[in-house]
Amino acid sequence: MIKYQRPRGTRDIFGTELERIELINQKARNFFKLNGFLEIKTPTFESIELFVRSIGEHTDIVEKEMYTFEHDKKLFVLRPEGTASVLRAILENNINLPGRFLYVGWMFRKEKPQKGRYREFLQIGIELIGESAPFYDAECINLARTFLNTVGAKNFFIELNSIGCSKCRQEYKKMLSDFLKSKTDNLCVDCQRRFEKNFLRIFDCKNDNCQKIYDETPKITDNLCPDCQAHYLKTKEFLKKMEIEFTENKKLVRGLDYYTRTVFELKLKGLGAQDTIVAGGRYDLLMKELGGNETPCIGWAMGVERMLLALPENMPEIKENKRFFIAVMGEDLFDDGLKLRDIIINRGGICIIGNPLDKIKSQLKDANHYRADYVIIYGEDEAKEGVYTIKHMLSGEQKEILKKDLDNYLNILM
Ligand SMILES: [Zn+2]
Ligand SMILES: [Zn+2]
Repeated sequence: MIKYQRPRGTRDIFGTELERIELINQKARNFFKLNGFLEIKTPTFESIELFVRSIGEHTDIVEKEMYTFEHDKKLFVLRPEGTASVLRAILENNINLPGRFLYVGWMFRKEKPQKGRYREFLQIGIELIGESAPFYDAECINLARTFLNTVGAKNFFIELNSIGCSKCRQEYKKMLSDFLKSKTDNLCVDCQRRFEKNFLRIFDCKNDNCQKIYDETPKITDNLCPDCQAHYLKTKEFLKKMEIEFTENKKLVRGLDYYTRTVFELKLKGLGAQDTIVAGGRYDLLMKELGGNETPCIGWAMGVERMLLALPENMPEIKENKRFFIAVMGEDLFDDGLKLRDIIINRGGICIIGNPLDKIKSQLKDANHYRADYVIIYGEDEAKEGVYTIKHMLSGEQKEILKKDLDNYLNILM
């Protein structure tokens, strides 16, 4: 027999973990709705050009991480991120701007699987479209922080940087290139290649030698044009007004071409190398790139799986519901059993009803299998006397409860 296995880097999610994920999604929807966001759902697959155009040809995502397939002589990909799709949807549906958008969805990337990193992963993302003022950069970060607090994540810190506009980046590239001229041979092959195609990304290199060299290089943050510099200063001022602590990381860049000016990450302490749970920034160039009007935008995406690693195992909101099993003895009493089930389920209890044709022994076995906390036995004797027999499975204790007292008794049990 062939054993079927799920693809590497994917998961089957069920039980408490699924409940946790659903709870986070629900909280995100509530929180961002209250902050004026409109949720938008875009297709799971899009034409490949959308991402090549937006993320950039010479990025890891486009070069090697997209799941591609052909249909009707057209190339499609499973979406590797959400932003490009949201902008495409805004343009295609002529949605009024400025606007605030929320998405919650599964993304796909052929990355090396690690703890908290999967090839199919859930992202919650927000986009503030049509806002250019530095206040919105700070507010965007503030919304991430407040949401994390809402779901109970605490030990995170914020890293901030500005990567300027195309104008200051062009001049900076020249400066960096002069500085690195004599050191090119010491850089890893990836960096040598990156420098040509997507030069800011060299700072992402994991190679220690490269990082040592980059420690010494001039940084774009210190070489911004006056406009970008003013924007960055004002952003930091607003963050301070909002009492948001942050550290400046001059080597923080984003792997996507469309980012401009403010970039930021929220990282969790104690998660090791996979510590980034929110990554975002300003992308003033993207809307035009996709065929729209020039529209300033800022947003972020949050990795839900990684964030869950940082939350306490038992999120207080997920309380274990009490589990009941109703053992009705005989078909004649089955209607009463069904009514009883409704009562318990309406009160938020988990309730399974057994096969009324089974003997009590067999029904108790089923109750055990389904980990019932209580079994409510209802047979001919109980019906005659107007009672239920309630068995606590853990202690084995049994108690008869008058039908009219059931409500009060359930209050005590649940
Ligand atoms: Zn600039
Ligand atoms: Zn390198």
